[in-house]
Amino acid sequence: MDRREYLRTAALAAGLAAAGGCDAVAPTTNQPTGTAPSGTPAVGSPASGGPGTGAPSARALPPEVVTGPRDRAAVALTFHGQGDPVVIRRLLQILDSAGVQVTILAVGTWLAAQPGLVRPILDAGHELGNHTENHKAIAHMSSGQAFTEIDACARRLKSLTGSIGAWFRPSQTQHSTPTIRAQAARVGYPTCLSYDVDSLDYTDPAPSVVVKAVMDTVRPGSIISLHFGHQVTVTAMPQLLAGLHGRGLRPVTVTELVR
Ligand SMILES: [Zn+2]
Repeated sequence: MDRREYLRTAALAAGLAAAGGCDAVAPTTNQPTGTAPSGTPAVGSPASGGPGTGAPSARALPPEVVTGPRDRAAVALTFHGQGDPVVIRRLLQILDSAGVQVTILAVGTWLAAQPGLVRPILDAGHELGNHTENHKAIAHMSSGQAFTEIDACARRLKSLTGSIGAWFRPSQTQHSTPTIRAQAARVGYPTCLSYDVDSLDYTDPAPSVVVKAVMDTVRPGSIISLHFGHQVTVTAMPQLLAGLHGRGLRPVTVTELVR
């Protein structure tokens, strides 16, 4: 699949239903109202100056990215950013030892409670993005509520890192809705980040189940959904990295994958 075809596929997939995963609750048929949200947040203007603050390539991407180009021998490990910092530091240590950089979508309230993790994450070359302020079911929210959830997390990222980050992943839904995409764009994220591989780590199965779930479905260009704060993810990671290496798939950040 060439880059143009991949972009077209990614755009089409934006409207598809999916099942499973903590961020994979069945999507709603929410449609944008076309009017200004009645619940326009009291926080004022968006946290960023608008689109263009994200990845250099973001403007060329569709409103939702599900996979990277299939002709690249690379994949992106993407993490729901929330959970016990002790477990998270163990995971970061494994990634660091392996020289692997990942993309972490932080929940705003978690970020506020764990500001000490920001520096180790960024210093290791990982990228931090937005996963809403409270990780609620954003697909069921009004435009105004969705904006507030995205914007509040963006403000935390901006104050802690100087940037809102390149990526926004909606909470409790694998795919974005038109309402979510519109509000994400308002805050400064022209592209919503989905995924095509669900590791199932959030269900806390045996580590071998996580490894198998990924290795059975991963392809070149895949974006893999994983979670901070689950010990199984830590335990499975060395075998997972070895499996990807065995397939010749290099883990990179989303920004690098879609570049
Ligand atoms: Zn999540």
